[in-house]
Amino acid sequence: MNEYMKIALTFDDGPSERTVEILEILREKDVKATFFVVNTGNVDIIRDIVADGHAIGVHSTTHSYRDIYASDEAFFRDFETMHNIIYEKTGVQTTLMRFPGGSSNTVSATYCQGIMTRLAQKVTDYGLQYFDWNVNSLDAGGVQTADEVFYHVSRGIANHRYSVVLQHDIYGYSVDAVEKIIQWGLEKGVTFLPLDPTSPTCHQRIAN
Ligand code: ZN
Repeated sequence: MNEYMKIALTFDDGPSERTVEILEILREKDVKATFFVVNTGNVDIIRDIVADGHAIGVHSTTHSYRDIYASDEAFFRDFETMHNIIYEKTGVQTTLMRFPGGSSNTVSATYCQGIMTRLAQKVTDYGLQYFDWNVNSLDAGGVQTADEVFYHVSRGIANHRYSVVLQHDIYGYSVDAVEKIIQWGLEKGVTFLPLDPTSPTCHQRIAN
């Protein structure tokens, strides 16, 4: 662990009411992060995310695997709706995105064979950057306490010079871990960065 290590904290599936708490912590610590957002009932918070200087990316409008991975056209319809919501709230035309389930998901094969292979190529051709992660907090399955989230994130970060950390700002126990993760990182002297179009994408192996 040293000052050459860089960490991109990323939060998927929000905004939720708990996102406001993350924004407060980030402001207090003067740390910028990245939010891959969904059309939740709290989309006005997207404005605050961007106003605070964080990166914003498209995750999905519905996050319904059945709907978005039904066909290439269905995916881009869903993508465009969320992209437009972000634009309406902030004026930002983001090119950052994260596929629901990540690019390596296999659930999409249930609905459409080969769709991830095609989508990954198409979004790249369209000038978008899709991000996966190399540090998984396991907050969407496996763990249910802030201590466990901290454990998996801190252990994962130690293995990488550049970490893209996956968390979800809809789970209270994951939100509860954020302050400790940042405090720990700052004490180690690492740099927290928001994602931008030139950041390492940490692509996983496409499996459908
Ligand atoms: Zn998600």
